[in-house]
Amino acid sequence: MIAAVPTSQEIEQEARRLEEKGLLEVGGYDETALLRLAERTWRINKLKAIKNAVIPAHVYQRPEILLGIADFTGDSYRLAKLCAEVKADTIVFCGVRFMAETAKILNPEKTVILPAAEAGCSLAESITGEDVRRIRALHPGAPVVTYINTNADVKAESDVIVTSANARKILEKLYQKHKKVIFIPDTLMGQNLARDLNKKLGEEMIIWQGTCIVHDSFEPSWLERYRKEFPGVQVLAHTECSPSLVEMVDFAGGTGDMMRFVENSNAPYYMLITECGLGDLARSRFPDKKFVPMCRLCPYMKSIDLDHVEKALSDPDAACRINVPEDIRLKAKKAIDAMFALA
Ligand code: SF4
Repeated sequence: MIAAVPTSQEIEQEARRLEEKGLLEVGGYDETALLRLAERTWRINKLKAIKNAVIPAHVYQRPEILLGIADFTGDSYRLAKLCAEVKADTIVFCGVRFMAETAKILNPEKTVILPAAEAGCSLAESITGEDVRRIRALHPGAPVVTYINTNADVKAESDVIVTSANARKILEKLYQKHKKVIFIPDTLMGQNLARDLNKKLGEEMIIWQGTCIVHDSFEPSWLERYRKEFPGVQVLAHTECSPSLVEMVDFAGGTGDMMRFVENSNAPYYMLITECGLGDLARSRFPDKKFVPMCRLCPYMKSIDLDHVEKALSDPDAACRINVPEDIRLKAKKAIDAMFALA
């Protein structure tokens, strides 16, 4: 299906809408880029209405996706919650595969499409359902607490799913009943949580060796020099970063927590140590605040562009359609529902 072609007046109107959304506040986007993008965002928004589709977008997506075509944006937890409530027939998920799978697990009757089939995740790919069965057998009775950045077969072998926003709260509840908990697959987040909760790694908390290739790449040696250059800078880091970095920053949390921190504080500068998309979104939302650039691109998240989304809406490839076998879906949903209940 080919959407209508916008007139030059419609392109101009769409460009102004993108400007109002804050796209010009994001570094590298100028009037020429705006007009070029406007033609495509206009077409995609028309197609979205024709197909009765909805576009959730993770905050690490490209700015033109977040500001131009997304119906709602957020971290994994917010997207999972909102996807459970959508009314549309089709969900075109701008994020990575495990997120689109989560949307399908919560919406089995809907068509869920991941615009770029190759959008995976180093954390999700670090572990399989078979690995979880093996580790569970080694620690009988210990509940398996699984970070949401995992594929459906891993979620299906878990007792409860967590996100960076609620992991600590859920673990605290579980430790009221259990001496030992298995936390998978992010080794750095596991180390941060074990330290925060005062739990002994290898005894009270069993962790896996997966890492996020983005957050694992930050190291703290340069941080003090930045503090000297930018007096008063508030440094915020994602809890997927190493404990040696996390213990040096002013605030550590998930992306939603980091945005709330910026919104509710008044510092001369902010540094957001995470994927670059969050800084782009923060610049568009808070044009009066100053951000010291410090980020890395996630090659998985950034593999989706507007062309992929247009194709996903008009003629999706079979590899982009998300399917989760029903037995796995039901078990994975139970673990996700346990998160909603505990969080
Ligand atoms: S930023 Fe890290 S955790 Fe998120 S999708 Fe990319 S590799 Fe996975």
